[in-house]
Amino acid sequence: MTLIERDQKVIWHPFTQQKNRQSPIPIVKGKGTLLFDEAGNQYIDAVSSWWVTIHGHAHPYIAERLYQQALQLEQVIFAGFTHEPAVALAEKILPVLPGNFARVFYSDNGSTSTEVALKMAIQYWWNQTGQPSRNKILAFNNSYHGDTFGAMSVSDRSVFTLAFHNLLFEVIFIDTPTAENIAAIQATIHEQAGSIAAFIYEPLVQGAGGIKMYENHLLDTLLATVKSHDIICIADEVMTGFGRTGKLFASEYMEEKPDIICLSKGLTGGTMALGVTACTDRIYQAYVNDDKLKTFFHGHSFTANPLACTAALASFELLERDHCLQKVEWITGENKLFAKKLENYTGIKNIRTLGTILAFEINEGRDEYLNNVSVIITQKALQQGIYIRPLGNTVYIMPPYCITHEELQTVYQTILNLL
Ligand SMILES: *Cc1c(COP(=O)(O)O)cnc(C)c1O
Repeated sequence: MTLIERDQKVIWHPFTQQKNRQSPIPIVKGKGTLLFDEAGNQYIDAVSSWWVTIHGHAHPYIAERLYQQALQLEQVIFAGFTHEPAVALAEKILPVLPGNFARVFYSDNGSTSTEVALKMAIQYWWNQTGQPSRNKILAFNNSYHGDTFGAMSVSDRSVFTLAFHNLLFEVIFIDTPTAENIAAIQATIHEQAGSIAAFIYEPLVQGAGGIKMYENHLLDTLLATVKSHDIICIADEVMTGFGRTGKLFASEYMEEKPDIICLSKGLTGGTMALGVTACTDRIYQAYVNDDKLKTFFHGHSFTANPLACTAALASFELLERDHCLQKVEWITGENKLFAKKLENYTGIKNIRTLGTILAFEINEGRDEYLNNVSVIITQKALQQGIYIRPLGNTVYIMPPYCITHEELQTVYQTILNLL
């Protein structure tokens, strides 16, 4: 039996309708930006394997560090024990985070990092007042914060969450700010502030919601309003963290900094599953109490897994050692040039870039995730040696920072050929 046949007998793939599905491509090896399949074809991974692979695949430095750590300590319960990689990573990361962050709480992925943030913010108010007086969450329409129930609740009510709508908790949804709507949004916040515990937002770019971008000065204004009511600001930088948007963190584009930040995806260079939720001392102090009921009762079997923390440390070192922000700057420039070129093409709209991210919509069918043009584009691009996976009719690239000049031009040319 081939790998595909074996797969089709036992595997259920994510975000994939199982009926009449395309055969998955058996990948046997990755190197740099490239993925190699069983048949010997190679593909440029232009979306960093769901936005995680920032240094390229199978990076030898991360692999070596993981091997050494695996021989030393692979896992240990993190309640009552600690270890070097977890502490070293927190020490490394806290000083560079955008804001006054004091503590790191580890979990397993992006969804858990936002779940932790929401629970941390809601219980903050409960710990302060002894009652659930302030427990509503403010979030953006069109947002995506993950697939677990809390994360789904604060995400857009979309096809992703349709089956669960009556089970999701109530959230105050607002549009992302524009010059036209900001005053109305501010009014909504003023009205309901007393009941709002926290505001969760994807700074500057809404990822899974269709790579929708909005302006930093408008977000800054909005954050100032939110903060004037003492609402806890949770920046979900699961996608935007570690250089994606041109700065180490997207929150650096704003004056107003978050109180809690969520990180995953690029955190380990895309090699291991790990989530970080960092908070300020103000949040943390609400949990330091003689009253045992004011404990943060949350944790996972693999909280602060030493291998995952080691991968994150190695990835962080590579960011500095390989001057990744310079590479990001170069990709940013190339994307801008390519965006100009795209302006000459008919049949597409909303061409936009931010850092290493470039996106546009194809004028074909409806502007929605279920738009079938996605499958066609993925297929055609694969035939030309590029892996992209449009969100409906939203075509985008989000390459690893190690992409070469030649590879990047190949990606652009392939997109032009498709158009
Ligand atoms: C991907 C993503 C998540 C969820 O992360 P997972 O690791 O897939 O659970 C949350 N927030 C944002 C902004 C994301 O892009």
